Amino acid sequence: MTPRKSSVIIFLGPPGAGKGTQAKMVAKKLDLPHISTGDILRNAINNGSDLGKEAQQFMDKGELVPDNIIFAITEERLQQPDCTHGAIFDGFPRNIAQAKEFMNLDYINKADESFAILIDLANDKVIERISNRRSCPNCNSVYNLINKKPKKKVDGHYICDNCGSELVIREDDKVETIKNRLSVYEKSTAPIINFFKNESILNTVDGAQSVEKINSEIMHILDK
Ligand SMILES: [Zn+2]
Repeated sequence: MTPRKSSVIIFLGPPGAGKGTQAKMVAKKLDLPHISTGDILRNAINNGSDLGKEAQQFMDKGELVPDNIIFAITEERLQQPDCTHGAIFDGFPRNIAQAKEFMNLDYINKADESFAILIDLANDKVIERISNRRSCPNCNSVYNLINKKPKKKVDGHYICDNCGSELVIREDDKVETIKNRLSVYEKSTAPIINFFKNESILNTVDGAQSVEKINSEIMHILDK
């Protein structure tokens, strides 16, 4: 039996393109850990580790957690046994400086194969998709007026199928906020795309397709 290869898979893409959904699907299919910076930060803080405490101090002041702490927490996470055969990164690295440092990590250099997967979606599609989201403030169910429409509308307001509460548009899903998120993405994350292209690990998938079609293209790229 040949030993199992270790694979590093990095997901990129604008908000609303579905990279979180795909990262989780691929993680499940390949039995690899899904690593998002938000989750590992929260874990470090909840565990009360030294790095978690350091990160907390910045967050308490409303400041961004500096890269050196993010990297230290990530490296700690990558030491855990579930990362032996690789890991899936979602939303990290998120700028060019992080991407360069990331590619120099021992863990990444020792991996047998690395893939950067860009799930691409045009800005107007991103805005259309996210601005049609409606959320339940009571049970947190999420709907979309394009493809996951709530069944009932009362007095012009959509109602949660699950609990009957009136649905709302979350702050993150308002057009102005989406435009801001897109401009942050274009400034900080988009340059990473070129970086990974130069590293010859970039693969692009059309995010306007169905979740299933996107997933089958990704599995094909990964040759799994
Ligand atoms: Zn509800």
